[in-house]
Amino acid sequence: MKVNSQYNTKKSLLELYNKPLLELVFEAATMHRQYHDPREVQMSSLLSIKTGGCSEDCGYCPQAARYNTDVDAQKLMTVDSVVEQAKNAKENGSSRLCMGAAWREVRDNKDFDNVVEMVQSVNELGMEVCCTLGMLNENQAERLKNAGLFAYNHNLDSSKEYYKDVISTREYEDRLNTIENARKAGISVCSGGIIGMGEAVEDRIGLLLSYMEMETPPESIPINALVAVEGTPLEDQKPIEQWEMIRMVATTRIAFPKSVVRLSAGRTKMNMEGQALCFMAGASSIFAGDKLLTTPNPEFNEDMEMFKILGLTPKAAFSDDEQPVSLPDPIIEERKKKEMERAQQLAEARAKHEGFTPRKVTLVD
Ligand code: SF4
Repeated sequence: MKVNSQYNTKKSLLELYNKPLLELVFEAATMHRQYHDPREVQMSSLLSIKTGGCSEDCGYCPQAARYNTDVDAQKLMTVDSVVEQAKNAKENGSSRLCMGAAWREVRDNKDFDNVVEMVQSVNELGMEVCCTLGMLNENQAERLKNAGLFAYNHNLDSSKEYYKDVISTREYEDRLNTIENARKAGISVCSGGIIGMGEAVEDRIGLLLSYMEMETPPESIPINALVAVEGTPLEDQKPIEQWEMIRMVATTRIAFPKSVVRLSAGRTKMNMEGQALCFMAGASSIFAGDKLLTTPNPEFNEDMEMFKILGLTPKAAFSDDEQPVSLPDPIIEERKKKEMERAQQLAEARAKHEGFTPRKVTLVD
């Protein structure tokens, strides 16, 4: 059961969300146990492969160039450094690597070729590879799929109505199209939201209803609590109570029984008891590592300690689906062929002129 038809209206979802907390958690925990192993929690790592300088105006994001935050724009990381980071993440127990680039959309250029190579290389390490690169067309989605991309992340953030209050540089429809393009290419979809941006509970429910309206809901639904960053329009938002996070996780779990509900940004504001209730209520993934793109996250050791205390085990990669095969990318192959030909031509030209001594020129006034 991908969608729980008992809760597919605004009214029924609102009633569910507002149930007495422990009843809600119990119902979510019962549902979770039908479709998931409650002891397993996936550890994922989020790596910012291209930080800052983004042209968009997402009100919560310190990477938007127009906001005065302490995030500086950087160039795309190299393939080798991404692979190195992926190896570290894997050694530390992560089975999924999500690579994020602060782009409005993917462009067909050398940077995207490099991302394709990153996907191939990280998939070959045996990790689930997820990318979040902004808007994506069908061809780009196809290239990523062939490279071995497991999932594409593109959050709807909030309800269609509230979205306009947070972002003005692109439409909700644009987001839906990108999700559709990833879906068409056969890539698993990761899409979720942020609570605590000043939205009403109805907007949180509206977000879930948007996923209900999809032919296939996302396989992965991250639930984030806003991390209010100085310099962004949402800098003054008060942190939400952890009970709200628990309610949102539980409601999402019940509404989408098969999806992986990911407890994402904002964990630093939760204590271990709060996180334990989220796991009880069906969250089965956390992001590990001390940074979530550019915002703070609990240290790896703290998470390991929490797993030990709660009796949780890290979930292995590809437990729910097969590992994609990385195929050679024709554009990259062609580019490499041209580079090799050019290198060969240069070597031949050099060999031809070996032993050649340039004529001595004397300058006269
Ligand atoms: S959330 Fe993404 S698209 Fe929006 S400003 Fe930040 S980096 Fe850009």
